[in-house]
Amino acid sequence: MTATKPSAAPRTAAPTPLAVLRQVFGYDSFRGQQGEIIDQVVAGGDAVVLMPTGGGKSLCYQVPALIRQGTAVVVSPLIALMQDQVDAVRQLGIRADFLNSTQDLTTRRQVERAFLDGRLDLLYVAPERLLTEPCLELLGAGQIALFAIDEAHCVSQWGHDFRPDYLGLDLLGRRWPQAPRVALTATATAATRQEIVERLGLDKARQFVASFDRPNICYRIEPKTQVKEQLLRFVTTEHAGQAGIVYALSRASTEELAAYLSDHGVRALAYHAGLEAERRRQVQRRFLRQDGVVVVATIAFGMGIDKPDVRFVAHVDLPKSVEGYYQETGRAGRDGQPAEAWMAYGLGDVVQLRRFIAESPADDLHRRLQTRLLDAMLGLCETPGCRRQNLLAYFGETIAACGNCDTCLRPPETWDGTVAAQKLLSTVFRLERERRQHFGAGQTIDILRGKRTPRVEQHHHDQLSTWGIGQDLSELEWRAVVRQLLARGELAIGPGGHGVLVLTPDSGEVLRGRRTVQLRRDVMTRPAKPPRSAKPSSVAPSDEATGEQATMFERLRAWRAATAKAKGLPAYVVFHDSTLRALAASLPTDREGLAGVPGIGQAKLEAYGDALLELLSADPADPHDQADPPDPTDPADPQDPPDPTDPTDPADPQDQAD
Ligand code: ADP
Ligand code: ZN
Repeated sequence: MTATKPSAAPRTAAPTPLAVLRQVFGYDSFRGQQGEIIDQVVAGGDAVVLMPTGGGKSLCYQVPALIRQGTAVVVSPLIALMQDQVDAVRQLGIRADFLNSTQDLTTRRQVERAFLDGRLDLLYVAPERLLTEPCLELLGAGQIALFAIDEAHCVSQWGHDFRPDYLGLDLLGRRWPQAPRVALTATATAATRQEIVERLGLDKARQFVASFDRPNICYRIEPKTQVKEQLLRFVTTEHAGQAGIVYALSRASTEELAAYLSDHGVRALAYHAGLEAERRRQVQRRFLRQDGVVVVATIAFGMGIDKPDVRFVAHVDLPKSVEGYYQETGRAGRDGQPAEAWMAYGLGDVVQLRRFIAESPADDLHRRLQTRLLDAMLGLCETPGCRRQNLLAYFGETIAACGNCDTCLRPPETWDGTVAAQKLLSTVFRLERERRQHFGAGQTIDILRGKRTPRVEQHHHDQLSTWGIGQDLSELEWRAVVRQLLARGELAIGPGGHGVLVLTPDSGEVLRGRRTVQLRRDVMTRPAKPPRSAKPSSVAPSDEATGEQATMFERLRAWRAATAKAKGLPAYVVFHDSTLRALAASLPTDREGLAGVPGIGQAKLEAYGDALLELLSADPADPHDQADPPDPTDPADPQDPPDPTDPTDPADPQDQAD
């Protein structure tokens, strides 16, 4: 421990991890494997850390950074977020800075000087800068406590976050064999983990794989009927005034949906890789700093979106893989408070994604892989069982039914769909026999329902023996049957990307009556109603909180908004909702009491202790005793001044779905 080690934890001997956790971060105990990971790194060992979003990865390198001598170098691709990350840890009294391409020479020199003088606990660097010879020389001239490689899945060439520069990072282990390296990611399959180990040369690292369960997120998937109206209803009736992300496949639809939501009073902004860098930065900034902003985005939005109070993530198009879906939904509820992952999907999505795959320039192997990923996604959508069970099974985890997803909360009724399946499959069989012509779900359903269309007449499909034998089910119901048979593998969409229905080996089992087909009833007719108990608490304290607590909480929020604004920080960097809630519930009257509240460490006690005590001692019933009112400026006001320190992200990933 040098004399320059953290001002936040002045000690003569190296402090223990627990002491750092309490003094600097204000938390009582480590979560999950944090303690073990920190011990491993403090002792100089390498670690590969797989934890879901919100699991608490940053502490795994921040605590060792405060204990080991020298500076912890954090490699991160998220240039646009470095300033916020640095601001947040500085609030805790940690000495941090960053180096990236957006700084001018003078600033960069200052940061380099601070590093060389041993005045930094944490130094964030983008990989493309780190790997330049001048930067490597700089690092060689100072003292390195450890390397943290954040978003380590960016080494995976199969993943959509691939960053070629990450491939060069194995050099760190060779050049600094004494410095421990910790690679962290929330992307979790065994294959990705293997790639991280191999490409970063981390074969000696201890691997820490946390459970990927996010129990506070409620999963809901419903059939798509009129998606705009469905989304609007979801946002306005269940998440009014709350922050959320809506994912859509195409750039055009993000803009259309954002406009539609805005027209209906939702503070919604579009985001995709086709927007100017400046505009993207603005949207991201507003989302992070203002309350209740909804961003409608392609998958280009998200990696590193470190906002703890995102209350919902909605998908209006079927994602391409369960892995991507899980990562996207994981951006909800990082603060551990109730949050929702909601999706609407329909047969059209499946057909569209199959077409993307068919038309993609990729080779056969890649196409087969994408098809498997899509099949798993479809299986999740149509499962009559627990969504979370299905999701976690994908990551190799087995859990009991969760009690916090739509299928657990309202178990879907099933019905014997064997005969319906046989009618459908034999129609497909007859159409397949025509060979020259290929037909999709629409024509097949028209035949079953005996609907006389020009296309039916042109092909004489009213002559087929299955003509009109399916009038007992509506078109929507038939579509649900098609989707479920696709998900069960008893029907498939043919290659070529035209949405042609084809039989599979399993179709024969059904046609010959060797297999019964239990289908979900609820997905057939009406969109699933929101499960009652999944209603997330709003930003206000939970129902059990008393009126006075609620008043105090609002007062604290108003104070936080004003404080954050004055300091130019996102509100959650000042305090999380959970800290404000704990303050409102326990009403501490002195500094000792404040220090016992989760999220209040020494630096924040110093900075905000007096203001908090004054607020907390005020009579909640007295209107004259109010804190500063929240800023009345419309948070969507485009006059938000550009922040000169807010750097561009030159390497923003393209949204590939366009
Ligand atoms: P990740 O990077 O894995 O997504 P973070 O490091 O941002 O997660 O942590 C998520 C949230 O959990 C943060 O608000 C953090 O302050 C909080 N947190 C982390 N570790 C603990 C802990 N041991 N006790 C209480 N809160 C914690
Ligand atoms: Zn469940």
